[in-house]
Amino acid sequence: MNEDMLKEFISDPALAATVSETDALRKDLVGMRIFDAPIFAIAAADDPLFLRLKSDASVGAHHLLPADWTPGARFVLSVFFPFAKRVRAANAAADRIPAAEWLHGRIEGQKCISAVFAAAAEVLRRAGFSAVVPALDARFRSEGFTSNWSERHVAFVCGLGTFGLSRGLITEKGIAGRFASLVTDMALSPTRREYEDLYEYCVFCGLCAKRCPAEAIDPETGKAHAPCFTFLEETRARFSPRYGCGKCQAGVPCECGIPARGARS
Ligand code: SF4
Ligand code: SF4
Repeated sequence: MNEDMLKEFISDPALAATVSETDALRKDLVGMRIFDAPIFAIAAADDPLFLRLKSDASVGAHHLLPADWTPGARFVLSVFFPFAKRVRAANAAADRIPAAEWLHGRIEGQKCISAVFAAAAEVLRRAGFSAVVPALDARFRSEGFTSNWSERHVAFVCGLGTFGLSRGLITEKGIAGRFASLVTDMALSPTRREYEDLYEYCVFCGLCAKRCPAEAIDPETGKAHAPCFTFLEETRARFSPRYGCGKCQAGVPCECGIPARGARS
């Protein structure tokens, strides 16, 4: 097992998320592909930014270091799975209500990512490496609106992208999608971070704030988690066992790429 094989395993089209006949919310969604090809970035486990996350007010001292998950950790692999055009377009078109395509992306898409990452970690372990997927680990904890392993912040450290006003992470494939990561002692090659500022890729166009049905995003101060959470719970009550929103990630200039500097409303 080496880095290329690991990336190929995670990108394997045979493992790609699609909507099954059992899960489909509508007949025409059966077989819908949820994600485009993933993109990868890698950070050294001792990257000083991991330690700095502990003093970031939006993360907190409870955020664990890579070596806390597995002693001897050498690298962190962060992966972004961009939502396919059909998923993004449906949610951009639907009004306040999350599109069925987006709900599938949020729930069935995430289930598939978790299964792929659990399998990838198992493959690494069988090859003699340590490998932990923090989000699937028994020690993973959510506290309030933060957790002890924030996929978006880890992706930032690894070099996948920078934050937007909506607090999503804008990657070269946009903001609409899901993140996952694993910590390992296998040798990987760290990615060069192409940015310095936390919000470098955001053009502060304010469109995410305009599209937010919960008015959770202030064009000046950014996102307030409480109204977003309340709105997501409303969608859970209506669409249980699914939930989601993502209006701030679809129909915006950062939806599927880094927005051009002139993309202001
Ligand atoms: S919609 Fe505009 S302001 Fe909001 S995150 Fe994207 S680029 Fe930034
Ligand atoms: S997910 Fe929905 S409610 Fe939450 S900030 Fe984005 S648009 Fe607003």
